[in-house]
Amino acid sequence: MTIHHHPSDETLLRHAAGTLSAGLALVVAVHIEGCAACRARSARFEAVGGELLEDMPQARLAPDALGRALEQLDLGSSASSARPTNVPRQAALGIKLPQAMRQCEIGPWRWLGPGFKWSKVEIAGSPQAKVMLLKGRAGLRLPAHGHTDMEFMQILFGSLSDERGQYLPGDLDEAGSDVDHQPIVGTESDCVCLAALEGDTRLHGFLGRLLRPLVGF
Ligand SMILES: [Zn+2]
Repeated sequence: MTIHHHPSDETLLRHAAGTLSAGLALVVAVHIEGCAACRARSARFEAVGGELLEDMPQARLAPDALGRALEQLDLGSSASSARPTNVPRQAALGIKLPQAMRQCEIGPWRWLGPGFKWSKVEIAGSPQAKVMLLKGRAGLRLPAHGHTDMEFMQILFGSLSDERGQYLPGDLDEAGSDVDHQPIVGTESDCVCLAALEGDTRLHGFLGRLLRPLVGF
């Protein structure tokens, strides 16, 4: 599988330093799981970051840096410590979820618009994280829209394309305020992706307007 769209270096650095919000961090973790290039790059950043952190006053650590580090240790330990809470859900959703999502609670598919469904993803310990699975019907043309918040989207199944190119399974799209686009789902199959929005503020923008009344983020 060739991956064409990767997180930026800034994102990989923030991920290594534990300063991404939990939702964005989950999307990046799913990407890294499937992308050898970003895994190698991330490992280098983590090594450098560890040295930088040792020289840094403690006050400059992200408030949850320790928690995140402990979480990572826990995730990295033996497979027997895994709590596969989402296994029954996987069958219901009709997709195989990445390992990085194995401790997430996944809700049922819910209607979001014609040919468009979503499912709430809950990250253990981060109930405020704005993360969801999105599923678009084959050939679905989404309305043209811009972005006000940072949105990360990792393709799990199927494909999407817009003015900037085509996104296939394994690709991660970082859409910031500079992105105006009209995504179209590939005609070969439905498309399922994992999406997260930055921060804990109220939702704005396209997804925000769709989701706010439904989930009260
Ligand atoms: Zn990558």
